[in-house]
Amino acid sequence: MGLFKIMEYEIVLAKEEDRAEVLELYRQQKGREYCPWDEDYPSDETIDFDLSRDALFVLKMDGSIKAAVSIEEDEDVDRLECWDKELAPGGELARLAVLPEEQNKGLARILLQFGMEELKRRGYRSIHFLVNKYNVKALKSYAVFGFNTVGECHMYEQDFLCYEKALSDRMIDTQRSKLISFPHGFSTRRGGVSSGIFESLNLGMNRGDEEDRVKENYKRFFASCGIGSNSFVCGKQVHGNTVMIVDDGDAREPYGYEELFEADGYVTKTPGVPLVVFTADCIPLLLADEKNMVVAAVHSGWRGTVKDIEKEAVDKMLSLGAEKEEIKACIGPAIDKCCFEVGEEVIDAVDGLLNGDTAGLYTKKDNGRFMLDLKTVLKKCLLRSGIREEHIEINKDCTMCLPEKYWSHRYTGGERGSQAAVIMIYKDADLKTGQDRVDRREQ
Ligand SMILES: [Zn+2]
Repeated sequence: MGLFKIMEYEIVLAKEEDRAEVLELYRQQKGREYCPWDEDYPSDETIDFDLSRDALFVLKMDGSIKAAVSIEEDEDVDRLECWDKELAPGGELARLAVLPEEQNKGLARILLQFGMEELKRRGYRSIHFLVNKYNVKALKSYAVFGFNTVGECHMYEQDFLCYEKALSDRMIDTQRSKLISFPHGFSTRRGGVSSGIFESLNLGMNRGDEEDRVKENYKRFFASCGIGSNSFVCGKQVHGNTVMIVDDGDAREPYGYEELFEADGYVTKTPGVPLVVFTADCIPLLLADEKNMVVAAVHSGWRGTVKDIEKEAVDKMLSLGAEKEEIKACIGPAIDKCCFEVGEEVIDAVDGLLNGDTAGLYTKKDNGRFMLDLKTVLKKCLLRSGIREEHIEINKDCTMCLPEKYWSHRYTGGERGSQAAVIMIYKDADLKTGQDRVDRREQ
């Protein structure tokens, strides 16, 4: 601990253009000790099957594929008697492959962890994983996960141990948007190493938590988003509407940030630069134009929302070449109408923002105060900025209703850690936007 050095990588869903590289990765495993694969498997058809159901994840370093893993659907494995019925449904990971020259660097473990988190997001309650019982190196490497060995089987001419593990509530529980395929995520409290009021995935750097723990939490959160990076862009949030255009020169390792920026949003078109905002009731908003390669991360509490910070972010994205019709938006976990009690001054500001078009957005209580649906207020602003309705997703979680899952500033009275939201353009995308970057440097 103490160091925040991790390998630079990104994990993304494989696409058609990755096919040849994945086949080559598979080919290099064939004939190696303990590898059960032959000339016919895995094949083009295997990749067709995986691509058709978003089941193939690849780990890239500097734009080239170093490792892969698939979420498998194999009835023969499902039918094994050994799996715990209490933990159904169980999901299976398979075809975990690492390039020979990249082995022994921990990539298999990173991908396996990512795969388990993805299984959990897809609603599975446990993971099933078969490992050759004589492959001591693999058995040692996976010991860190604490799998239960629940049985043995003989399949595909090999002897396997049947590994099983419950996907528990203590696992990291990163929330994702279904609309965005760039590496991104919204953190929860779960899956970190901090304790006390910071238990456990605190990503706030100036709240009194121990630096080493927060750094480890970042490593885990980023890994769960498919981001392996030592640095990112963030700053001091001031409930304003300042959105800054940033690039790789603005990214820093965690800590020592406070003086760098005072802003509540960041926009970039530089691949490989993670943008981070912090929340604990306020709305984290992530925006992505994946065609034109422009992304934004925004902290939008009620003050920022009524100052139309969303419009600042969209306008800055457009200035970098984004198109309204291409921008996808995800409104992340935040305090909802059930819990967000506000005074009349907030309602007046919202009425002003939306020119009175506020039917259903708030209800008045007997005590003269109001319950406000800020997520839908923000959605209306996005629509007004020209974002298509089918490109707007709202995370349903209310941070105050779920104190085990999220920090809520109101629920905790301010004694709390912080959630973070992050988004990054594929580093691989650099290849496509290389010319743009040269142009920008010359200006
Ligand atoms: Zn609530």
